[in-house]
Amino acid sequence: MGTKIKVLRGDQIGGCVVLVSTGQAKICIDFGENLPGQEGEEGKRAEIHWDDEKVDAVFFTHYHGDHMGRFMEIPAHVPLYMGSVSRQVLVNINRALHREAELAVLLDEDRVGCLKADCPVEVGDIRVTPYLVDHSAYDAYMFLIETPDKTILHTGDYRNHGYRGKALFDVIGKYILCHGKRPVDILITEGTMMNRMGEKAYSEAGLFQEAKELFKDHRHVFLLCSSTNLDSLASFYHAGAIYGMGMYGNSYVYSQLKTFRETAGRATPLYDFKYAYEVRFDFVLPGVGMTQEEWMRKNGFVTVIKGEPGYEKWIKRFVDLKPIVIYSMWKGYLDPGQKAYDKKLHDFVRKYHAIPMHTSGHAPAEVIEEVINRVSPREAIIPIHTENREGFLNLKIKEELKGRIRLSYE
Ligand SMILES: [Zn+2]
Ligand SMILES: [Zn+2]
Repeated sequence: MGTKIKVLRGDQIGGCVVLVSTGQAKICIDFGENLPGQEGEEGKRAEIHWDDEKVDAVFFTHYHGDHMGRFMEIPAHVPLYMGSVSRQVLVNINRALHREAELAVLLDEDRVGCLKADCPVEVGDIRVTPYLVDHSAYDAYMFLIETPDKTILHTGDYRNHGYRGKALFDVIGKYILCHGKRPVDILITEGTMMNRMGEKAYSEAGLFQEAKELFKDHRHVFLLCSSTNLDSLASFYHAGAIYGMGMYGNSYVYSQLKTFRETAGRATPLYDFKYAYEVRFDFVLPGVGMTQEEWMRKNGFVTVIKGEPGYEKWIKRFVDLKPIVIYSMWKGYLDPGQKAYDKKLHDFVRKYHAIPMHTSGHAPAEVIEEVINRVSPREAIIPIHTENREGFLNLKIKEELKGRIRLSYE
């Protein structure tokens, strides 16, 4: 029996699941939640009948909820594979929420296997090799999946305009294709930006430059940004560090910054978050003789917050200094026309006249084109993680490749 690929809910952004099977083994790639706002028939979740499917292992590309959010539904005998930083990021989230059952699964050494870049994992006759990829999540992987008769590349979520993006085509050329010696039969690629065609990707380096300019005149900054978006946090952190402004967050945000400092930060000062602290306004700083709040008022700060009423108290404390609020998240959350519209967040952003400054976590269409052209899969291209699979037909890719676009491989 040859290799089969089944795609569940590839027609939406997030919550897509891919099953790869041979006669001997079956693996599942990602098992996450649908994005907020996807309701009704359209928002039906990917369903796996675990008893019938007999999945041997689940591999997670990265820690975003739309890829890992449903790991608790996976039967206990199925091993889980994820990056070690992904695991720690999820541990931090679940600790903050006091979710003991989730923590027990994540910390189960017998069940959770930690992926290492370039190190293959074998499940029966399926071999999965993870390759690190640039995304708004850190520790995100593309998977090269080799079965006895097929070579498959599953991209996960990716882009090339973050700090680790330069490596994208190197990784594809040198490691995945082995300088042309290892042809890919089937490419499974994300296409988030396919319904935002023509949108220019704004780079992390550009975000840093813009923040640096802004902070010249504004040293008291509240930042609406995901606590797991390592690159954007680093952009704002370094822009602030130029002026001596530290980065602050609640104990949960600090736990994520500490995780990044102790992992990614070991390899490069870009991610070391040396001047990141937990908010404890009244804490007297040893050897300084002033409280943290006094220090923040004097030296400035970039404080990571959420658009929730509890954080208004924080902003109020500094109101005499005219602090600014930056909105560094997807603009769709503020657009009533979008399914993921978040009214509370929108009200918060309007109240504080938040300044929009954001980088997408996903590759624009021209980068997807280049990935397809370079990989040039011999048999099939399967678009996932997109609301516009038809849009792939309009990409500037070779005509013969257009004829290989399909929804599954069975
Ligand atoms: Zn995603
Ligand atoms: Zn993602």
